Amino acid sequence: MASLTLNNVKKRFGHVEVLKGIDIAIDDGDFLVLVGPSGCGKSTLLNMIAGLDSISDGEVSIGDVVINDLHPADRDIAMVFQSYALYPNMTVGQNISFGLEMRNVPKPERDRKINEVSSMLQIEHLLSRKPGQLSGGQRQRVAMGRALVRDPKIFLFDEPLSNLDAKLRVDMRTEIKRLHQRLSATIVYVTHDQIEAMTLATKIAVMKDGELQQLGSPAEVYDNPANTFVATFMGSPS
Ligand code: ADP
Ligand code: MG
Repeated sequence: MASLTLNNVKKRFGHVEVLKGIDIAIDDGDFLVLVGPSGCGKSTLLNMIAGLDSISDGEVSIGDVVINDLHPADRDIAMVFQSYALYPNMTVGQNISFGLEMRNVPKPERDRKINEVSSMLQIEHLLSRKPGQLSGGQRQRVAMGRALVRDPKIFLFDEPLSNLDAKLRVDMRTEIKRLHQRLSATIVYVTHDQIEAMTLATKIAVMKDGELQQLGSPAEVYDNPANTFVATFMGSPS
């Protein structure tokens, strides 16, 4: 049974169909990278998986459970945004702890998880600071900490490194790859950076205008593009 399955998933905003029937299945431990031009529907697709946007048609399942009508908090999914979305008035520790408090996780257990995650992300020394006192890279680590601490079945990342400078992007890319391996996590990750896609992905999905053009391993997509759009977009040799 695939870990995450999208079955003919569609999204309409008013009369405009922005996702036109997406079929994707990934396995436990897959790192799926979604790429495609701006406006092709990548964020909308992630939001539907997370439950932040409603699904107009089709089904999203985790294992064999259809999650279309589940509240976001009940989906066992954590999302990391480009904009971090940290609570400015809470400390780093409180930001990471908040989701656990909402789930009534007892304090000793919360403290244990915060310690574990902050040491994994090397942010232990930042726990009492406010987000405003952090660099962009540190904020992104905190945002990842908030997702990690929940131990979700699936992580969603929407262009998490886009606001970072080039050097830090490469460092964080390495870190995300290491976390994926260490946690055997299942990840869906949006980027507009083809190198990032090729280095991180176990599978790449190339989208255009709300339609899936190709789903395959990085090598398949790069060496054996399904059409000229994929070839051009991925910079495949001709
Ligand atoms: P991407 O993340 O690939 O850049 P998006 O998923 O953000 O693309 O957007 C896909 C399309 O849906 C775009 O044309 C965008 O303008 C449109 N769209 C996204 N959100 C809304 C919304 N809330 N209402 C109307 N149209 C939207
Ligand atoms: Mg987007």
